[in-house]
Amino acid sequence: MNPMPGAPVSIPADGSPLLTLADQCVQCGLCLPHCPTYRLEAIEAESPRGRIALAKALATGALDPSPSALAHLDHCLGCLSCQKVCPSQVRYDDILALTRADLRARRPAPGRIRRWLRDPARLTRLARLGAALRADRWLPLLAGVLPKGSLARRLALTQAPPPRPAPQRPRSAPATRGRIVLFRGCVASVYDRDTFAAARALLEALGYEVVATSAGACCGALPRHAGEIEAAAATAAATREELRRSGADVVLTSASGCHGDLRDQVANDGAMRVVEIHTFLAADAGFAALRFRPLAARAALHLPCTQVNVAGGVDAIRTLLARIPDLAVLPLPEQPRCCGAAGSYFIEQPEFADRLRAQKLDQAAALQPDMILTTNVGCRLHLGNGLRERAAPLPLRHPLALLAEQLDNSAS
Ligand code: SF4
Ligand code: SF4
Repeated sequence: MNPMPGAPVSIPADGSPLLTLADQCVQCGLCLPHCPTYRLEAIEAESPRGRIALAKALATGALDPSPSALAHLDHCLGCLSCQKVCPSQVRYDDILALTRADLRARRPAPGRIRRWLRDPARLTRLARLGAALRADRWLPLLAGVLPKGSLARRLALTQAPPPRPAPQRPRSAPATRGRIVLFRGCVASVYDRDTFAAARALLEALGYEVVATSAGACCGALPRHAGEIEAAAATAAATREELRRSGADVVLTSASGCHGDLRDQVANDGAMRVVEIHTFLAADAGFAALRFRPLAARAALHLPCTQVNVAGGVDAIRTLLARIPDLAVLPLPEQPRCCGAAGSYFIEQPEFADRLRAQKLDQAAALQPDMILTTNVGCRLHLGNGLRERAAPLPLRHPLALLAEQLDNSAS
């Protein structure tokens, strides 16, 4: 069995964790066909096996951190499709985090925008400011005067957060089932607030009392994936403390990108359970009693890497969506194949990110859908930017948002 992706980075006492982990790779190459960047470039340095060899060479000093070596490492999406299929149980996630942590001191300091992209608190404040100022109206104009190819321009062209959702109708069941903590996330608390409201509505319809984490409480995934292990650990510790104070023993999140770090870095003391939200809902006996209004529509289902490789719950997503009468759910082919979003990757590595997105949007278009469904807020943003560029408007929703919209409160 493969190790759980995102398991805590443990640093053995011999001081050489990276080499110990990297030596577990037997170079069989079975992961190569599953790697999105290898499929794009078809060169060893853009493969998991090539990156592990690069990481080893950099760690032992056999290779200097040249711009091209760093670029190959930076092109890695962290999608963990390699780790998922590795028969030797190589902990690629930890190798990548340790390599990036080691390289932080050996490469030029990141510029201001890159630092923002790794700072969940600052990024969340920016997103909130953008939402309050209706940045969607004027940021595209600003982008026009920013240098082409710059990170600032890329950031300015990213979709603005959705408007605050209308207040939900009162719950249709008394809160007798106990208390659930719903983790909002940092950037997701702004960009995915419609999804959060939907998750709350569904849980309340089942009779749960829902307690939300504070706006901006973060799992630490963004800094951890950038190799900022200490900052990520401090962030996770603060969130762990907040969850502990909440007194609930089950934590759910509607953001698939937060699930792994929430489970493995935040709730790693066993005091509470982080449960995949679709699995939780599908397993709840009360869900079968909920009624959903029919929707005659075609929904292309994009399964994010974080959902398939880390969080799980894919069957549960299909089970839940099957409750909407007349809805045709059309899975995209070759899943999970990263769409190029991957946290802040779609802003930092636009060339690879856009090529991966183009493949994904072509696959979606072939299904002639009325909407695209995805459980990851980053995928939603990145794919949404691509649809806007193609002038192909298509709603992008979280499955929970669709379910809540179709929930027939009058029938409960
Ligand atoms: S990471 Fe795993 S699957 Fe890939 S080459 Fe190494 S041992 Fe083989
Ligand atoms: S994490 Fe994804 S992009 Fe990176 S090497 Fe593995 S499969 Fe390739």
